[in-house]
Amino acid sequence: MAGERWAESLEYAEELFAAESDVQGWIRAEMEARGLPMIQVSPIEGRLLGFFCAAIGARRILEVGTLGGYSALWLLSLVSESAQLVTLEIDPDHEALAAEAFSSAGVTGRVDQRLGAAIDLLQDLAEESAFDVVFLDADKVNYPRYLELCTPLLRSGGLLMADNVFWEGKVVDAAATDPDTVGMREFNRLLAADRRYDACMVPVRDGLAVARKRD
Ligand code: SAH
Ligand code: MG
Repeated sequence: MAGERWAESLEYAEELFAAESDVQGWIRAEMEARGLPMIQVSPIEGRLLGFFCAAIGARRILEVGTLGGYSALWLLSLVSESAQLVTLEIDPDHEALAAEAFSSAGVTGRVDQRLGAAIDLLQDLAEESAFDVVFLDADKVNYPRYLELCTPLLRSGGLLMADNVFWEGKVVDAAATDPDTVGMREFNRLLAADRRYDACMVPVRDGLAVARKRD
């Protein structure tokens, strides 16, 4: 499809199927005003995240990389009111904006925000009950570690979803050898070959990997 029509079609799909909430619009405006990186998921991708969570009846969701809480609200957008989200973030300013957003959205009681390095926080989660969905979206250099640490936290039949798996095309650019790109390539290679999962890739925005943990 021609590039222009593709962009228009995405807008059309977004309008019909992926309208963000008022609080999500507020989060984007605040991210911009506070100088936070505008690297949140797109509405179409966010809707897909929410759809997958609801499709498997998720009751416990884990997010790695909260930023302003934008994707978190998508993750919770279609699941039952009793579903809970644990979300991990290293930056206190990001954590603070997300806390305000969760309060405005009326979901504070359903969201457990944890501040720190995800690798440490994931180790603590090993003692707690299993998750139905894990959404990876923090530092790319650590994605291979996150795959290892998150797999035992996920129930059989649960979904691992990972954002930015195209990494702006750098995964296929041989000249790109920075640690994030190397980490992302390694993650994709590991996930594709991982016998514990049936995985697929959705070429939405910057690439979304979706993998079902085998029974
Ligand atoms: N999921 C968000 C975007 C996350 S951006 C959305 O789509 O709305 C990535 C986030 O991961 C940033 O907020 C960054 O501060 C956080 N992060 C980076 N390194 C981290 C680490 N080692 N542990 C936890 N969070 C980390
Ligand atoms: Mg991302």
